Amino acid sequence: MAPGFVIHFGGKCVVVTGGNRGIGLEISRAVAKAGASVAIIYRSSKDAEQVATNIGKEFNVKSKAYKCDVSDADLVNKTFAKIDDELGPIKGLVANAGISVVKPALEMTTDDFNKVFTVNVLGVFNSARAAAKLWIERKHQGGSIVITSSMSSHIINQLGSNKPLTQIFYNSSKGAVTNLTKGLAAEWAPHNIRVNAIAPGYVDTDQTAGMDEKVKNYQAENVPLKRFAKPEEMTGQAILLLSDYASYMTGGEYLVDGGQLIW
Ligand code: NDP
Repeated sequence: MAPGFVIHFGGKCVVVTGGNRGIGLEISRAVAKAGASVAIIYRSSKDAEQVATNIGKEFNVKSKAYKCDVSDADLVNKTFAKIDDELGPIKGLVANAGISVVKPALEMTTDDFNKVFTVNVLGVFNSARAAAKLWIERKHQGGSIVITSSMSSHIINQLGSNKPLTQIFYNSSKGAVTNLTKGLAAEWAPHNIRVNAIAPGYVDTDQTAGMDEKVKNYQAENVPLKRFAKPEEMTGQAILLLSDYASYMTGGEYLVDGGQLIW
């Protein structure tokens, strides 16, 4: 008997920025499993090409890695055009690449601000615009953009073990991303381009690996589901938003946080 609810991207191409590790890697694998060609964008990793090859073999889809710093607008535009020619048509984008700097606010520098905002806000914008430009100019009849925001667009993560420590520029960059999502969704709705965000809670990746063990345990205890997420637990919402099942969803931000924001 045929299953009643199936998402299949049937050879369409999905671009995943930061798709070579962590949450992005699991989203790359999930879209490949759903039949999409996958373009993985990475910044400097040595094994991204091998990661892409492995995904292609495992799921029998086209999969390729593209080295591109998402904060460089010209390079992002050129890379997306190349992907569209090589693996396209691009129909989906997961703008997922993100970084953090953890330091007391009094020690943060302009360089720290620029580092975080040029990836987490400008990088997301550059990627979204590159996809939208293609979709509009090449008449691809729309597409879906999923942005990886964070539950910390709503709350401040407490990262200190004996006194408050935050990642103030990260938290504020994710707050900015929520409004970026809404603004782009509003502007591009007439082109049938949907823009949504997922807002993960704590996820076990390289980004959280350096957290103080005591703080980590305390934070995990605070989550109603009593644990950090595995990166693959972020894929369901992303896949849904990329798919036609979400055809009336745009401008939204969807928590995947184990219930953390209930408290
Ligand atoms: P990781 O630190 O595991 O991976 C970061 C990814 O982003 C890498 O693939 C990296 O590429 C890529 N990247 C970083 N800077 C750039 C750049 N300038 N250009 C292109 N690619 C870049 O991150 P996570 O998987 O933990 O996080 C993914 C997203 O989810 C981020 O936006 C993060 O803020 C968000 N998030 C994470 C949470 C968590 O608890 N982990 C919670 C909430 C949100 P390379 O390997 O080449 O360096």
